[in-house]
Amino acid sequence: MSQKEIDFIPHTPAVLKQIFERRGIAPNKRFGQNFLIDQNILVSIPDIATLKEDDVIMEIGTGTGGLTRLLASRSRHVFTIEVDKKLFELSSDILKLYKNITLINADILKTKHELNPDILSLIHNWIREHSQAQIKVVSNLPYNISTPVIINLLEGDLPISFMVLMLQKEITERMKAIPGTREYGILSVITQLFSEVEVVKTLSPDVFWPRPAVHSALVKVVIHKEKYAGRVTDYPFFGKIIYAIFTSRRKTLMNSLEKLNLPIVSREHLKVIMKEMQLDERIRGESLSVAQLIHLSEAIGKLKNPPDEISNRIKLGKISDVFDQHFIE
Ligand code: SAH
Repeated sequence: MSQKEIDFIPHTPAVLKQIFERRGIAPNKRFGQNFLIDQNILVSIPDIATLKEDDVIMEIGTGTGGLTRLLASRSRHVFTIEVDKKLFELSSDILKLYKNITLINADILKTKHELNPDILSLIHNWIREHSQAQIKVVSNLPYNISTPVIINLLEGDLPISFMVLMLQKEITERMKAIPGTREYGILSVITQLFSEVEVVKTLSPDVFWPRPAVHSALVKVVIHKEKYAGRVTDYPFFGKIIYAIFTSRRKTLMNSLEKLNLPIVSREHLKVIMKEMQLDERIRGESLSVAQLIHLSEAIGKLKNPPDEISNRIKLGKISDVFDQHFIE
Protein backbone atom coordinates (compact mmCIF):
# COMPACT_ATOMS: atom_id res chain seq x y z
CA MET A 1 0.00 0.00 0.00
CA SER A 2 1.26 3.47 -0.75
CA GLN A 3 1.54 6.11 1.95
CA LYS A 4 -1.34 7.97 0.35
CA GLU A 5 -3.56 4.93 0.64
CA ILE A 6 -2.55 4.37 4.25
CA ASP A 7 -3.22 8.01 5.10
CA PHE A 8 -6.60 7.66 3.51
CA ILE A 9 -7.77 4.76 5.67
CA PRO A 10 -10.22 6.35 8.08
CA HIS A 11 -9.95 4.97 11.59
CA THR A 12 -13.64 4.09 11.80
CA PRO A 13 -14.94 1.29 14.06
CA ALA A 14 -15.52 -0.94 11.00
CA VAL A 15 -11.95 -0.47 9.77
CA LEU A 16 -10.43 -0.87 13.24
CA LYS A 17 -12.51 -3.97 13.98
CA GLN A 18 -11.27 -5.49 10.75
CA ILE A 19 -7.64 -4.65 11.51
CA PHE A 20 -7.97 -6.15 15.02
CA GLU A 21 -9.74 -9.27 13.80
CA ARG A 22 -7.12 -9.91 11.19
CA ARG A 23 -4.49 -9.86 13.90
CA GLY A 24 -6.59 -11.84 16.34
CA ILE A 25 -6.53 -9.11 18.98
CA ALA A 26 -9.11 -7.00 20.83
CA PRO A 27 -9.01 -3.62 22.59
CA ASN A 28 -7.68 -4.03 26.12
CA LYS A 29 -9.62 -2.27 28.87
CA ARG A 30 -6.71 -2.51 31.28
CA PHE A 31 -4.71 -0.11 29.14
CA GLY A 32 -7.59 2.33 28.68
CA GLN A 33 -7.81 1.54 24.97
CA ASN A 34 -10.49 3.77 23.52
CA PHE A 35 -9.54 4.89 20.07
CA LEU A 36 -10.61 8.20 18.63
CA ILE A 37 -12.82 7.51 15.63
CA ASP A 38 -14.44 10.86 14.94
CA GLN A 39 -12.65 12.09 11.83
CA ASN A 40 -13.60 15.74 12.38
CA ILE A 41 -12.15 15.74 15.87
CA LEU A 42 -9.06 13.87 14.73
CA VAL A 43 -8.26 16.37 12.00
CA SER A 44 -8.97 19.33 14.28
CA ILE A 45 -6.32 18.31 16.82
CA PRO A 46 -3.23 19.44 14.85
CA ASP A 47 -4.95 22.83 14.46
CA ILE A 48 -5.80 23.04 18.16
CA ALA A 49 -2.14 22.28 18.86
CA THR A 50 -1.23 25.02 16.32
CA LEU A 51 1.30 22.62 14.80
CA LYS A 52 4.09 24.04 12.72
CA GLU A 53 6.55 22.13 10.61
CA ASP A 54 9.40 22.59 13.07
CA ASP A 55 7.41 21.28 16.06
CA VAL A 56 8.49 18.16 17.92
CA ILE A 57 5.72 16.17 19.53
CA MET A 58 5.44 13.60 22.26
CA GLU A 59 2.35 11.41 22.06
CA ILE A 60 1.47 9.05 24.88
CA GLY A 61 -0.55 6.05 23.72
CA THR A 62 0.01 5.43 20.00
CA GLY A 63 -2.93 3.04 19.82
CA THR A 64 -3.69 2.36 16.19
CA GLY A 65 -1.76 5.43 15.09
CA GLY A 66 -4.80 7.39 13.89
CA LEU A 67 -3.69 10.57 15.60
CA THR A 68 0.03 9.88 15.21
CA ARG A 69 0.00 10.04 11.43
CA LEU A 70 -1.89 13.34 11.45
CA LEU A 71 0.65 14.75 13.88
CA ALA A 72 3.57 13.45 11.82
CA SER A 73 2.37 15.03 8.61
CA ARG A 74 2.21 18.43 10.31
CA SER A 75 5.45 18.46 12.34
CA ARG A 76 9.19 17.90 12.39
CA HIS A 77 9.21 14.77 14.52
CA VAL A 78 6.87 12.67 16.68
CA PHE A 79 7.87 10.51 19.62
CA THR A 80 5.02 8.16 20.31
CA ILE A 81 4.86 5.74 23.21
CA GLU A 82 2.77 2.58 23.40
CA VAL A 83 2.86 0.10 26.27
CA ASP A 84 0.93 -2.69 24.55
CA LYS A 85 3.26 -4.81 22.42
CA LYS A 86 0.47 -5.91 20.08
CA LEU A 87 -0.64 -2.35 19.40
CA PHE A 88 2.96 -1.26 19.06
CA GLU A 89 3.40 -3.85 16.29
CA LEU A 90 0.11 -2.89 14.66
CA SER A 91 0.88 0.83 14.68
CA SER A 92 4.47 0.19 13.52
CA ASP A 93 2.97 -1.38 10.39
CA ILE A 94 0.47 1.42 9.86
CA LEU A 95 3.12 4.10 10.39
CA LYS A 96 6.11 2.43 8.79
CA LEU A 97 6.43 4.78 5.85
CA TYR A 98 6.71 7.87 8.01
CA LYS A 99 10.34 8.85 8.44
CA ASN A 100 9.73 11.34 11.22
CA ILE A 101 8.13 9.08 13.82
CA THR A 102 9.95 7.32 16.65
CA LEU A 103 7.77 4.53 18.02
CA ILE A 104 8.61 3.44 21.53
CA ASN A 105 7.26 0.24 23.05
CA ALA A 106 7.35 1.07 26.74
CA ASP A 107 5.34 2.20 29.73
CA ILE A 108 5.40 6.00 30.01
CA LEU A 109 5.50 5.62 33.80
CA LYS A 110 8.25 3.94 35.75
CA THR A 111 6.20 4.36 38.92
CA LYS A 112 3.25 6.59 39.79
CA HIS A 113 5.83 9.15 40.83
CA GLU A 114 8.19 8.94 37.91
CA LEU A 115 8.12 9.01 34.13
CA ASN A 116 10.13 6.36 32.34
CA PRO A 117 13.73 7.67 32.47
CA ASP A 118 14.75 5.86 29.25
CA ILE A 119 12.06 7.66 27.29
CA LEU A 120 13.02 10.99 28.83
CA SER A 121 16.70 10.60 27.98
CA LEU A 122 15.86 9.51 24.43
CA ILE A 123 13.86 12.70 23.88
CA HIS A 124 16.38 14.87 25.74
CA ASN A 125 19.20 13.55 23.57
CA TRP A 126 17.26 14.04 20.37
CA ILE A 127 16.34 17.64 21.15
CA ARG A 128 19.92 18.41 22.16
CA GLU A 129 21.34 16.90 18.97
CA HIS A 130 18.76 18.65 16.80
CA SER A 131 18.87 21.99 18.64
CA GLN A 132 15.16 21.82 19.32
CA ALA A 133 14.14 24.38 21.94
CA GLN A 134 10.75 23.06 23.00
CA ILE A 135 8.33 20.22 22.48
CA LYS A 136 4.56 19.83 22.52
CA VAL A 137 2.63 16.98 24.09
CA VAL A 138 -0.43 15.83 22.16
CA SER A 139 -2.22 12.80 23.51
CA ASN A 140 -5.43 10.95 23.98
CA LEU A 141 -4.29 9.93 27.44
CA PRO A 142 -5.39 6.60 28.87
CA TYR A 143 -7.73 7.41 31.75
CA ASN A 144 -6.12 5.25 34.37
CA ILE A 145 -2.76 7.01 34.14
CA SER A 146 -3.69 10.57 33.24
CA THR A 147 -3.28 12.15 36.67
CA PRO A 148 0.24 10.84 37.41
CA VAL A 149 1.33 11.49 33.82
CA ILE A 150 0.11 15.10 33.90
CA ILE A 151 1.71 15.77 37.28
CA ASN A 152 5.02 14.24 36.27
CA LEU A 153 5.08 16.06 32.94
CA LEU A 154 4.41 19.37 34.67
CA GLU A 155 7.02 18.82 37.35
CA GLY A 156 9.57 17.30 35.02
CA ASP A 157 12.33 18.90 33.01
CA LEU A 158 11.25 18.21 29.44
CA PRO A 159 10.99 21.64 27.78
CA ILE A 160 7.26 21.40 27.12
CA SER A 161 5.60 24.56 25.86
CA PHE A 162 2.13 23.32 25.36
CA MET A 163 -0.08 20.25 25.72
CA VAL A 164 -3.28 19.21 23.98
CA LEU A 165 -4.88 16.36 25.89
CA MET A 166 -8.01 14.30 25.68
CA LEU A 167 -9.04 13.47 29.20
CA GLN A 168 -11.88 12.18 31.27
CA LYS A 169 -14.13 15.20 31.82
CA GLU A 170 -13.83 15.01 35.62
CA ILE A 171 -10.08 15.25 35.39
CA THR A 172 -10.28 18.44 33.36
CA GLU A 173 -12.70 19.79 35.96
CA ARG A 174 -10.21 19.02 38.71
CA MET A 175 -7.41 20.69 36.77
CA LYS A 176 -9.41 23.90 36.44
CA ALA A 177 -11.16 23.82 39.82
CA ILE A 178 -11.32 26.93 41.96
CA PRO A 179 -10.48 27.00 45.69
CA GLY A 180 -13.08 25.71 48.11
CA THR A 181 -14.84 23.42 45.65
CA ARG A 182 -15.04 19.65 45.89
CA GLU A 183 -12.90 19.26 42.77
CA TYR A 184 -10.12 21.51 44.06
CA GLY A 185 -7.22 19.36 45.17
CA ILE A 186 -3.63 18.42 44.53
CA LEU A 187 -4.13 18.03 40.78
CA SER A 188 -5.67 21.52 40.62
CA VAL A 189 -2.86 23.11 42.60
CA ILE A 190 -0.06 21.49 40.62
CA THR A 191 -1.75 22.17 37.27
CA GLN A 192 -2.36 25.81 38.13
CA LEU A 193 1.14 26.17 39.55
CA PHE A 194 2.70 25.30 36.22
CA SER A 195 0.14 26.09 33.56
CA GLU A 196 -3.06 27.59 32.30
CA VAL A 197 -5.82 25.22 31.21
CA GLU A 198 -8.52 25.82 28.65
CA VAL A 199 -11.25 23.31 27.84
CA VAL A 200 -11.64 23.40 24.07
CA LYS A 201 -14.45 20.89 23.67
CA THR A 202 -16.32 18.25 25.58
CA LEU A 203 -16.48 14.92 23.81
CA SER A 204 -19.27 12.36 23.95
CA PRO A 205 -18.36 8.69 24.47
CA ASP A 206 -19.46 8.13 20.86
CA VAL A 207 -16.30 9.65 19.43
CA PHE A 208 -14.33 6.64 20.72
CA TRP A 209 -14.31 2.95 19.92
CA PRO A 210 -14.89 1.05 22.09
CA ARG A 211 -17.26 3.51 23.73
CA PRO A 212 -15.97 4.48 27.20
CA ALA A 213 -18.31 4.80 30.17
CA VAL A 214 -17.38 8.43 30.77
CA HIS A 215 -17.47 11.76 28.98
CA SER A 216 -14.21 13.29 27.88
CA ALA A 217 -12.87 16.75 27.18
CA LEU A 218 -10.19 18.16 24.98
CA VAL A 219 -7.97 20.62 26.83
CA LYS A 220 -5.15 22.97 25.98
CA VAL A 221 -2.53 23.30 28.71
CA VAL A 222 -0.19 26.24 28.24
CA ILE A 223 2.91 25.88 30.39
CA HIS A 224 4.10 28.98 32.21
CA LYS A 225 6.49 27.78 34.86
CA GLU A 226 7.60 31.33 35.64
CA LYS A 227 4.18 32.59 36.77
CA TYR A 228 3.82 30.68 40.04
CA ALA A 229 6.25 27.80 40.15
CA GLY A 230 9.19 30.22 39.92
CA ARG A 231 8.15 31.67 43.26
CA VAL A 232 8.37 28.41 45.18
CA THR A 233 11.84 28.07 46.68
CA ASP A 234 11.33 24.66 48.26
CA TYR A 235 9.15 22.33 46.20
CA PRO A 236 9.24 19.32 48.49
CA PHE A 237 8.10 21.47 51.40
CA PHE A 238 5.36 23.07 49.31
CA GLY A 239 4.30 19.52 48.41
CA LYS A 240 4.14 18.53 52.06
CA ILE A 241 1.91 21.48 52.82
CA ILE A 242 -0.57 20.75 50.08
CA TYR A 243 -0.49 17.06 50.96
CA ALA A 244 -1.24 17.90 54.60
CA ILE A 245 -4.10 20.17 53.55
CA PHE A 246 -5.77 17.91 51.01
CA THR A 247 -5.52 14.69 52.98
CA SER A 248 -7.51 16.30 55.77
CA ARG A 249 -9.93 18.47 53.91
CA ARG A 250 -12.39 18.81 56.77
CA LYS A 251 -9.77 20.16 59.16
CA THR A 252 -8.94 23.80 59.61
CA LEU A 253 -5.76 25.02 57.97
CA MET A 254 -4.21 25.38 61.42
CA ASN A 255 -4.93 21.77 62.34
CA SER A 256 -3.75 20.44 58.98
CA LEU A 257 -0.49 22.31 59.33
CA GLU A 258 0.08 20.88 62.79
CA LYS A 259 0.27 17.49 61.14
CA LEU A 260 3.49 18.65 59.54
CA ASN A 261 5.21 18.33 62.91
CA LEU A 262 7.55 21.22 62.50
CA PRO A 263 9.32 21.62 65.83
CA ILE A 264 10.35 25.25 65.29
CA VAL A 265 6.99 26.42 64.00
CA SER A 266 4.48 26.86 66.79
CA ARG A 267 0.75 27.47 66.65
CA GLU A 268 1.54 31.08 67.57
CA HIS A 269 3.84 31.44 64.59
CA LEU A 270 1.13 30.08 62.33
CA LYS A 271 -1.36 32.53 63.80
CA VAL A 272 0.95 35.42 62.96
CA ILE A 273 1.43 34.21 59.39
CA MET A 274 -2.30 33.71 58.92
CA LYS A 275 -3.07 37.12 60.35
CA GLU A 276 -0.55 38.70 58.03
CA MET A 277 -2.26 36.89 55.14
CA GLN A 278 -5.64 38.11 56.40
CA LEU A 279 -6.90 34.57 56.82
CA ASP A 280 -9.52 33.67 59.37
CA GLU A 281 -8.17 31.26 61.99
CA ARG A 282 -10.94 28.79 61.25
CA ILE A 283 -10.34 28.73 57.51
CA ARG A 284 -9.83 25.39 55.82
CA GLY A 285 -6.73 24.91 53.72
CA GLU A 286 -8.77 23.78 50.75
CA SER A 287 -10.07 27.31 50.28
CA LEU A 288 -6.61 28.81 49.68
CA SER A 289 -5.66 29.83 46.14
CA VAL A 290 -2.39 28.71 44.59
CA ALA A 291 -0.90 32.16 45.23
CA GLN A 292 -1.93 31.95 48.91
CA LEU A 293 -0.51 28.44 49.25
CA ILE A 294 2.81 29.67 47.88
CA HIS A 295 2.81 32.61 50.24
CA LEU A 296 2.05 30.34 53.18
CA SER A 297 4.73 27.83 52.26
CA GLU A 298 7.32 30.56 51.81
CA ALA A 299 6.43 32.20 55.14
CA ILE A 300 6.61 28.92 57.06
CA GLY A 301 9.79 28.00 55.18
CA LYS A 302 11.47 31.15 56.42
CA LEU A 303 10.63 30.26 60.02
CA LYS A 304 11.67 26.68 59.56
CA ASN A 305 15.14 27.50 58.30
CA PRO A 306 17.63 29.74 60.10
CA PRO A 307 18.08 32.99 58.13
CA ASP A 308 21.64 32.31 56.98
CA GLU A 309 20.50 29.16 55.25
CA ILE A 310 17.78 30.89 53.32
CA SER A 311 19.95 32.79 50.91
CA ASN A 312 20.16 31.17 47.49
CA ARG A 313 18.43 28.13 48.79
CA ILE A 314 16.33 26.82 45.96
CA LYS A 315 15.34 23.26 46.54
CA LEU A 316 14.20 21.45 43.47
CA GLY A 317 12.38 18.23 43.66
CA LYS A 318 9.19 16.50 42.85
CA ILE A 319 6.09 17.40 44.74
CA SER A 320 4.57 14.06 43.87
CA ASP A 321 7.29 12.26 45.82
CA VAL A 322 5.43 13.01 49.02
CA PHE A 323 2.06 11.76 47.88
CA ASP A 324 0.59 8.36 48.52
CA GLN A 325 -0.47 6.27 45.65
CA HIS A 326 -4.18 6.77 46.30
CA PHE A 327 -3.75 10.48 46.10
CA ILE A 328 -2.26 10.49 42.65
CA GLU A 329 -5.04 8.37 41.21
N1 SAH B 1 -3.93 7.78 20.45
C1 SAH B 1 -4.81 6.69 20.13
C2 SAH B 1 -5.00 5.72 21.28
C3 SAH B 1 -5.65 6.22 22.53
S1 SAH B 1 -6.09 4.93 23.67
C4 SAH B 1 -6.14 7.25 19.66
O1 SAH B 1 -6.44 8.39 19.94
O2 SAH B 1 -6.89 6.54 19.02
C5 SAH B 1 -4.76 5.02 24.80
C6 SAH B 1 -3.52 4.25 24.37
O3 SAH B 1 -2.54 4.38 25.42
C7 SAH B 1 -3.75 2.76 24.20
O4 SAH B 1 -3.23 2.35 22.98
C8 SAH B 1 -3.00 2.11 25.38
O5 SAH B 1 -2.50 0.84 25.09
C9 SAH B 1 -1.90 3.13 25.62
N2 SAH B 1 -1.36 3.09 27.00
C10 SAH B 1 -2.03 2.76 28.13
N3 SAH B 1 -1.24 2.84 29.21
C11 SAH B 1 -0.02 3.26 28.76
C12 SAH B 1 1.22 3.51 29.40
N4 SAH B 1 1.35 3.35 30.72
N5 SAH B 1 2.26 3.92 28.65
C13 SAH B 1 2.12 4.06 27.29
N6 SAH B 1 0.96 3.83 26.64
C14 SAH B 1 -0.10 3.43 27.35
